[in-house]
Amino acid sequence: MTPPQRQRWLDVACGFCGCACDDLNVDVEGGRIIGIENACESARGSFLAGEVPADKATDFSIVGEPVGYEQAVSRAADLLTEAEAPFIYGLTRMTSEAQCAAVELADRIGGRIDTPAGLFCPALGTPLQQSGVSSCTFGEVRQRADVIVFWQCDPERTHPRFRKRYCPDGSVGPGAGGSRGAFVICVGDPGTKTATKADQVLPVSRGREYEAAGVVRGLIAGHEMGESAVFDQTGVSLAEWKLLAERLRTCHYGVIVCEERQAGLSDWSNRYDAAAVHQLAIDVCNRTRCSVVTLRGPGNPVSAEMVFTWQTGFPCSVDLVAGYPRYGPAEFSLERSIARREADLVVIVGEDWDHGLESICGRLGSVPWILIEDRAWADLPARPAPTIRIRTAAFGVATPGTLFRADGVPLPLPRLLESPFPDAGRVLADMLARVARATPTAGGEP
Ligand code: SF4
Repeated sequence: MTPPQRQRWLDVACGFCGCACDDLNVDVEGGRIIGIENACESARGSFLAGEVPADKATDFSIVGEPVGYEQAVSRAADLLTEAEAPFIYGLTRMTSEAQCAAVELADRIGGRIDTPAGLFCPALGTPLQQSGVSSCTFGEVRQRADVIVFWQCDPERTHPRFRKRYCPDGSVGPGAGGSRGAFVICVGDPGTKTATKADQVLPVSRGREYEAAGVVRGLIAGHEMGESAVFDQTGVSLAEWKLLAERLRTCHYGVIVCEERQAGLSDWSNRYDAAAVHQLAIDVCNRTRCSVVTLRGPGNPVSAEMVFTWQTGFPCSVDLVAGYPRYGPAEFSLERSIARREADLVVIVGEDWDHGLESICGRLGSVPWILIEDRAWADLPARPAPTIRIRTAAFGVATPGTLFRADGVPLPLPRLLESPFPDAGRVLADMLARVARATPTAGGEP
């Protein structure tokens, strides 16, 4: 018997956090990943778990009864055809190609479609749309930044290899700034691992990010400020803010790093904080170069926004009911749509169940819903049983396609493993084909 062939993949991109490290070396043998180099611990666990079908009985099911793939897809297409207000949600654990298929399906069935970015859009999208954003690639951070400000975030915990890969050597450790690398400033909790490696820490009080950004903006603009008022508002002395403002004003290339959830940017009420940070970078740009880098969550969320934008004109929360796209980041959220009875069928596909869906889980039982998901049912958090369940190939290891890094740089994902399950894009395309056959357009075209 021929021994299973061993194969080594070089410079593989990782889709398990927004960093998208693309320097992983992966060894595959006998249909399993047996070794991996350069990955952080969390990525190592995800890759080595590989593609292990754990609960065959519920891979494809209708109302809990195991069925074949064709049957599950046909029934899903029937539900989509019959629904008056279908809603497609998720799209983060999917390739760009599969996300395109999801938008195409939403367009065909005349439904709403959204990603978890719908929750963050007020924080991340609004500044971009209202005032513009000064942004850069991770490569620019590495090659050019001489001052890096970690703004209420802890990438050492959330994006473990970000600092090592993109913050220049010499920036790690107190007093390491200067001719080599960047001077690193941490604004936020002094107890984080990122803060312990910073050159300067400003322990701004939680919830005072807006005021803090305002103080730095005022100092950069040359305004006088009262010492006690600044301390009362931010928990940090005016002298320390002056040092930070001076560093940003006189640097060659400053970068402010945020994280969408750590910084509270995911909260509607904090949208002004995000706008203030972006505005601060724009103010600094009047004197020197400064950018904001926002570290995103796991999966492929940036790609979803790109796909939405190039296919509908909007980055998230799109309503296609009228036959043309309408944008409503709060208005067309899944939670509100179910609560107002504006959704009578929900399709959750490629969702990152760790974030964003907690508040929706309780409502899912009130409407029929279809789960298209690459993980075993038992590995997901508790939720009402779906009407139809279709398991798909594991994202990141068995789904060739395109992955977008948090800075918007597209990277290829190889097919490291053959999967017994279909890709999410194929499932959506199969549904679309059936819906098209059942509801031909006026010209008779499918
Ligand atoms: S830091 Fe993120 S992208 Fe890099 S290996 Fe770890 S999980 Fe993957």
